[in-house]
Amino acid sequence: TRFEDAKLYDAFFENVKRAKYEKPTPVQKYSIPIISAGRDLMACAQTGSGKTAAFLLPTLTGMMNAGLSSSSFSPVQEPQTLVVAPTRELAVQIFMDARKFAYGTMLRPVVLYGGTSVGYQLRQLSSGCHILVGTPGRLIDVISKGKVSLEKIKYLVLDEADRMLDMGFGPDIKKIIETFGMPSKDERQTLMFSATFPEEIQKLAGEYLKNYLFLSV
Ligand code: AMP
Repeated sequence: TRFEDAKLYDAFFENVKRAKYEKPTPVQKYSIPIISAGRDLMACAQTGSGKTAAFLLPTLTGMMNAGLSSSSFSPVQEPQTLVVAPTRELAVQIFMDARKFAYGTMLRPVVLYGGTSVGYQLRQLSSGCHILVGTPGRLIDVISKGKVSLEKIKYLVLDEADRMLDMGFGPDIKKIIETFGMPSKDERQTLMFSATFPEEIQKLAGEYLKNYLFLSV
């Protein structure tokens, strides 16, 4: 299998090549067509499996194909993709991958995480945001301040969902999804990644994903 077999936005093929990805990893090979087809996905995949590109490449493609308003300064940003991750390190990694893949397009990713002052992050946000990546607590802070609206979310990604529950982020995830006007699961596409698939994760998937495909690699 080759990346060229996937239906990705043209610029992304070059960006994948520039990242020295020669061929898709298994989670990429199976996830990309499922996500491109518009299906919700629950994937069991470890860190190191290539799961980040597996969800970024098709969601970024979907955003490019939907036609994008240019990112501009606005006090309230309306991203179309939200990625929720358990730790600062993972959020930054996802953000850097998003920036790498979005190179040469207008797509603008922004990352929000706690443990550091919010000022710089708010300035990044107000200069434009199509893809918002963040940890739960800081996301809630910034959304509550009215600096970002979730009403235009088309893609919701819950990354390392089992770790988020282990860290006690269950209520925060619920709050993010249910209290800030995010489109319902019928109106958005939801992707969940987890290393394990215990009962709590099955329950989370049942609650926030619709008619989802299950993938284990
Ligand atoms: P992830 O599981 O998304 O954290 O990715 C693990 C590592 O593999 C990261 O350093 C990626 O840049 C790298 N990677 C992801 N996909 C590929 C690929 N198709 N070929 C080579 N390296 C990759």
